[in-house]
Amino acid sequence: MDSTMQHTPLLISSLLRFGTTVFAEQKVITWTGEGSRELTYAEVGQRAAQLSHALRKLGIDGDQRVGTFMWNNAEHLITYLAVPSMGAVLHALNIRLFPPQIVYVATHADDRIVIVDNTLAKPFSGLLAHLPGVQHVIVNGSIDDETRAALEAPEHVVAVHDWDALLEGEPTAYDWPEDLDENSASSMCYTSGTTGNPKGVAYSHRSNYLHAVTAALALGAKQGDRLLVVVPLFHANAWGFPYLAMAVGASLIMPDRFLQAAPLAAMIEREKVTFGAGVPTIWNDLLSYLETNPADLSTCRGLVVGGAAAPPAMMKAFQEEHGITIIHAWGMTEMSPIGTVAIPPTTVEPGSDEYWRYAAAQGRLVVGVEGRLVGPDDSIAPWDGESVGELEVRGPWITRSYYANGRESDVDRMEMESKFHDGWLRTGDVGTLSEDAFLVLTDRAKDVIKSGGEWISSVDLENAIMAHPDVREASVVGVPDDRWGERPLASVVLRAGSPTTVEDVREWLAGRLPKWMLPERWAVIDEVPKTSVGKFDKKVLRKRYAEGELEVQTFG
Ligand code: ADP
Repeated sequence: MDSTMQHTPLLISSLLRFGTTVFAEQKVITWTGEGSRELTYAEVGQRAAQLSHALRKLGIDGDQRVGTFMWNNAEHLITYLAVPSMGAVLHALNIRLFPPQIVYVATHADDRIVIVDNTLAKPFSGLLAHLPGVQHVIVNGSIDDETRAALEAPEHVVAVHDWDALLEGEPTAYDWPEDLDENSASSMCYTSGTTGNPKGVAYSHRSNYLHAVTAALALGAKQGDRLLVVVPLFHANAWGFPYLAMAVGASLIMPDRFLQAAPLAAMIEREKVTFGAGVPTIWNDLLSYLETNPADLSTCRGLVVGGAAAPPAMMKAFQEEHGITIIHAWGMTEMSPIGTVAIPPTTVEPGSDEYWRYAAAQGRLVVGVEGRLVGPDDSIAPWDGESVGELEVRGPWITRSYYANGRESDVDRMEMESKFHDGWLRTGDVGTLSEDAFLVLTDRAKDVIKSGGEWISSVDLENAIMAHPDVREASVVGVPDDRWGERPLASVVLRAGSPTTVEDVREWLAGRLPKWMLPERWAVIDEVPKTSVGKFDKKVLRKRYAEGELEVQTFG
């Protein structure tokens, strides 16, 4: 049978066209500090067309890269839609990387034009001299003369444009190319490598499209939802939210640079947020804030938490104190990113121990993602909820290689190749899969603590310590130990003003964990250091310990 269905390519322009016409009344709402500004999706569609016309005039052609150096706001969403729709490739730069890393990724991706928020223009001007490939800078919002002069200074910069002036007068419709290959690149993100430089992942139109639709299904996003996107648009595709909003007809609430607990609580209350997404640290801060600053969060039914393990104590507190369900999910930049979503089976009694075991797991594989556990000596471990292995995955929105342009170092090339195994992606995550496809991660392979013959999960320990009511945050890393090879070191942030000591926490823990898991080494810290996307930064803690910067108390 050779006559089947039509070959309509799955393109970002289809999502753009659909979302901005069929759901023309939905809105993107950008927080401004005291209040918000809004655009309808109809206006988003018009501005996306105007931006594309302007970018063409500035010379963007083929799959050239357009970078962004922006917070989550309406203009970033417009760029997210416009650049791929015109056939070019969007590269959202991680504004929190160290400057040399930003220079590396923008150079490696060959960004031609960068769109910058006015509030980030100054730091960006410091990088620009090191980015000879960047010919045009577009600034969203007004800047002072000094910042403009700094942006114009490098010789390779042809011009600095003002977003509004650039779009002004351009046609509000665009003849989006329909002959694009759905497998061609539409956007890219970089992920921090274990060693060496960040690694680029190029998403295709098809992968972004399929991922958006699946993410909407798996997370239960609905028409008319008001989605608070705390996860940055530069972090792993913003977990699909910009595109899934177009597909289901949901409005987007964009926090811009206001990412602290107080403005987030205000946004949820005033913008009647129904659903949100972000890393655990964001929601943990919000939870502590709400203890002393009550807010009406009754419109919010759920928050997706991923990027790092969601502490069960935090999940329960949101459910019991605020009626908000935390949906735990797991993924990677290399996977667009969603791989699993933890929605307990309907056969399980809500609130029961079994329910919480399911809810606290990393989640159930979503349709389209296949997983297998690979044990030592390459044996495949069964899905029995007990056998441990490294998770490998494959599927239509999982990368088959990293983006390479021939300029990588040998170390980078080796690292890039080592992540693939017979057509599967090695995740570097270790854990179990149950018969019903729930993934429980013990740890990242590099974070597991090898103590004598036992392996200790740093995540299990962190979750157990963070269940203590006077602990705000806890991070556990393995440190060298003469007798056991490695032992856990617990760095703990105690609740402000609490008389509890780490010795008390340890004693409390002693009744809850086997003795061999109990850390002997403890340090009280003011804050757990965080990575560029807000995860606990264990590298920094290991370094601080090695350099004697932590005040460590030893027990037992
Ligand atoms: P980076 O490596 O820069 O942190 P990613 O965000 O792509 O970039 O990281 C993906 C990794 O984050 C996963 O391989 C896993 O180790 C960790 N991770 C993501 N979600 C979870 C989760 N729900 N629980 C535990 N770890 C997670």
